[in-house]
Amino acid sequence: MKYLYVLLLMLTNSMVFSQTRYVMVIHGGAGTILKENMTPDQESAFREALTQALQAGYTQLQAGKSSLDAVEAAILVMEDNPLFNAGKGAVFTHEGKNELDAAVMWGPTRAAGAIAGVTTIRNPIKAARAVMEQSEHVMLTGKGAEAFASSKGLEIVDPSYFWTENRWKALERALKQDSLKTQLDHDGNKQSTNPALTNDYKYGTVGAVALDRDGHLAAGTSTGGMTNKQYGRIGDAPIIGAGTYANERVAISCTGWGEFFIRGIAAYDVAAQMEYSNTPVAQAALAVIEKIGSMGGDGGMIALDDRGNMAMPFNTAGMYRGAITESGEIEIAIYK
Ligand code: ASP
Repeated sequence: MKYLYVLLLMLTNSMVFSQTRYVMVIHGGAGTILKENMTPDQESAFREALTQALQAGYTQLQAGKSSLDAVEAAILVMEDNPLFNAGKGAVFTHEGKNELDAAVMWGPTRAAGAIAGVTTIRNPIKAARAVMEQSEHVMLTGKGAEAFASSKGLEIVDPSYFWTENRWKALERALKQDSLKTQLDHDGNKQSTNPALTNDYKYGTVGAVALDRDGHLAAGTSTGGMTNKQYGRIGDAPIIGAGTYANERVAISCTGWGEFFIRGIAAYDVAAQMEYSNTPVAQAALAVIEKIGSMGGDGGMIALDDRGNMAMPFNTAGMYRGAITESGEIEIAIYK
């Protein structure tokens, strides 16, 4: 009996110790990201940027700061890096403007803040957090969001700050395909859909989820949306429960074809499966990505539970992603 007890204890311990505990997971967008289209320099630039973002978040956690601070710190790094479709580097609307969306959510209280369709706030993630912490609302849009951000002392920039050559060229390509599409439609060929909304375009949204020393979870997402999107279009990122969600048990941030993530209530679906049927995080996240796929959408998500289990499923060719463990080990991946 005594031996059996010792054996059981050893087994339990080895199970506990063999489980890697992640404290932060990030993504830099999902899409048609293929190794053959990427130079070694480009690939290492992405790896480095993701590493920097993880380190920025991890530094906060190590200093005993909240998961919300960690999420904000990681997203700030990516918003300021033109490689990503968020902040500087955001994609263009059909009219050639940059309209940004972002959200944060704090798991313990389910407080949330979001901004949408803004064109002058340098760091949308800061504005989303300000909405959560300094207003009575959950979501502010356009001019109202900008006035609010400015009144809270956040940095306001000229819209030209967001202009980058790569994204401009992507819009030009999309517009060219658009006119082709129009011609095809005239020919009665209805096969083509809006090319900007097909997966020929890398999405590139950024997101982060983190777990702090107090066991509290937070999630955040920031994006320029989708290339060639219509003026005024709002994606899933700032919609709580669609692209971003956190409660006391799990935090989720999504990337991909936003319309599908909104209709699929993607982020909340992961939390709901965990809450109502005790589904493990990896299984719940995968099921949602499969559901999005079966609806005809594509993309991916990151999810982290309160025990440090994480998942990063996607149904596109790639997703820029990374995770860091409690002891500071970094894992970065791009392709399938
Ligand atoms: N989900 C974002 C949107 O639809 C796009 C992305 O993930 O890159 O606005």
